[in-house]
Amino acid sequence: MGGGPGRRVLGSGPQPLPAGVEVLVVGAGIIGAAVASRLAAAGLDVCLLDRLGPAAGTSSAGEGNVLVSDKVPGPDLALALRGVELWHELAGEAGERVEFEAKGGLVVAHDEKELDALFTLAESQSQLGAHVELVAAGALHELEPALTEDLRGGAYYEQDCQVQPMAAVDFLVRQFGAHGGRLVRGAEVVGAEHDGQGILRSVRTTMGTVAVGTCVVNASGPWAGEVARRLGTGIPVEPRRGHVLVTEPEPPFVRHKVCEAGYVSTVHDDGTGLACSAVVEATRSGTMLLGSSREFVGFSRELDPEIIRTIAARAVALFPDLARARLMRAYVGFRPTTPDRLPIIGADSAVGGLYHATGHEGAGIGLALVTAEIVESLLFGRAPSMDLAPFAPARFAAAARTGTTSSSVLNVPNEAVERRTARPPASAVLPPHAAPRRQDWPSKGCSRRFALGATSPPLPYLLARRCCGSVSTVESSWLHAAAPSRELCCPTASGHGGRPERAASDGGSSAGSAPVLTASST
Ligand SMILES: Cc1cc2nc3c(=O)[nH]c(=O)nc-3n(C[C@H](O)[C@H](O)[C@H](O)COP(=O)(O)OP(=O)(O)OC[C@H]3O[C@@H](n4cnc5c(N)ncnc54)[C@H](O)[C@@H]3O)c2cc1C
Repeated sequence: MGGGPGRRVLGSGPQPLPAGVEVLVVGAGIIGAAVASRLAAAGLDVCLLDRLGPAAGTSSAGEGNVLVSDKVPGPDLALALRGVELWHELAGEAGERVEFEAKGGLVVAHDEKELDALFTLAESQSQLGAHVELVAAGALHELEPALTEDLRGGAYYEQDCQVQPMAAVDFLVRQFGAHGGRLVRGAEVVGAEHDGQGILRSVRTTMGTVAVGTCVVNASGPWAGEVARRLGTGIPVEPRRGHVLVTEPEPPFVRHKVCEAGYVSTVHDDGTGLACSAVVEATRSGTMLLGSSREFVGFSRELDPEIIRTIAARAVALFPDLARARLMRAYVGFRPTTPDRLPIIGADSAVGGLYHATGHEGAGIGLALVTAEIVESLLFGRAPSMDLAPFAPARFAAAARTGTTSSSVLNVPNEAVERRTARPPASAVLPPHAAPRRQDWPSKGCSRRFALGATSPPLPYLLARRCCGSVSTVESSWLHAAAPSRELCCPTASGHGGRPERAASDGGSSAGSAPVLTASST
């Protein structure tokens, strides 16, 4: 039923919905594409279905980092370490086509508190298999010559790497087609039929009904809660919005993925307000990706000028040369987020024949291949490579029964979700753990062991500017790429703002060159 090997999947005409299939994968993002490809390669008859098409959801909004650095010790880190291994394996085959770069990641600390927390985290990560080197403030420039001087130190994560997410989805979907899989675009899952034992037997879509022989895999990303509901069950997956800024191509001056130490805590925080810290990386095409923010505002696609300005300011504070860069565009995406920030991978606890592979928050690109490996091991009854209990859908069964699952959000922006206004400081620090002090750090051949007292005073704080209320004004300024920064942040407008926050150092306010990314113009 799957079609012959080598069949073209992208660029071919619309595929009809099959009458029946062994495995139906819902959602052709990076997770669905990886799962479908792996299962088809294992010889199963698989249909990959999407209401739009490949990479139509969050997978076209991610930055493409495959990270160990932001994972907390435990199941989170175990998953990431295996994920990185699998990306390296795939890169042997797909390398250039997915723009794979084993570039390494550098996490930097602005102050002693951040540094302590970073070293504590790095210590515990390294004990579980992460390759981390502590970097003295004075040695940061060996790794990143263009970094600001105003940093206390950092940690270098050799295993962090990068791919181009859309190219990766494309590669996996083509691989899926080559294994005989069938891709159906434009079919939205709307309901399901179950047998007397509650086992899922067929799925209703806007293109018709498909009978399911073995199982359905729900890989519908931030919509997975709603898709689960349509399939007769519940899982708590909510969209967590993130902004990303893209500069015009620049001569390369950022070598690694560089982020603030506060970024790690924003990934794992309780999500009660806006979290924002800088992640900076160059891409193969020369553009720079600047991220990112996290907030629960439903599926609102409205760009927020204040967030854009904050991201720009924080990025410029790390790399003063960015003040010369022009912003090409900005966009938002929706991370599929669970209450405990761990993905949901495994058999549904209420509906037989249904598996979930979702809830990867800001790590779905990095975790796609390991997720596919886990799903395959579950379907074939093989011993998994790690403890899967932390990812089991059953851990949320009580919440699902009491109706605290995702609201109905498909097709329309979820305006019912109230925008949260409480905004904690843009960069929180990692939670303090009782852990070894930095002098206890094992040497492990680390050539850049941290030395105290080699840094400059903390970055200055400036009062936040108030932002323009009009998003369209801001957008047209970016698109023409010649706007002075005051068009990004109008000091006279009465929109958001007023809170003090970290702003660019001198480099960020360089005059004369119409800097788009500066944060301190008037
Ligand atoms: C700003 C930002 C930056 C990020 N950066 C990174 C990063 O650097 N590294 C990283 O690893 N991750 C990153 N992520 C997270 C990553 O992008 C996601 O975890 C990942 O893309 C989720 O993939 P997915 O396949 O689960 O979901 P999606 O890509 O959203 O795919 C779900 C698919 O399901 C389809 N669908 C929905 N409902 C239905 C239905 N009823 N019927 C049929 N189809 C349906 C949708 O059309 C969509 O194509 C980032 C995310 C954001 C927002």
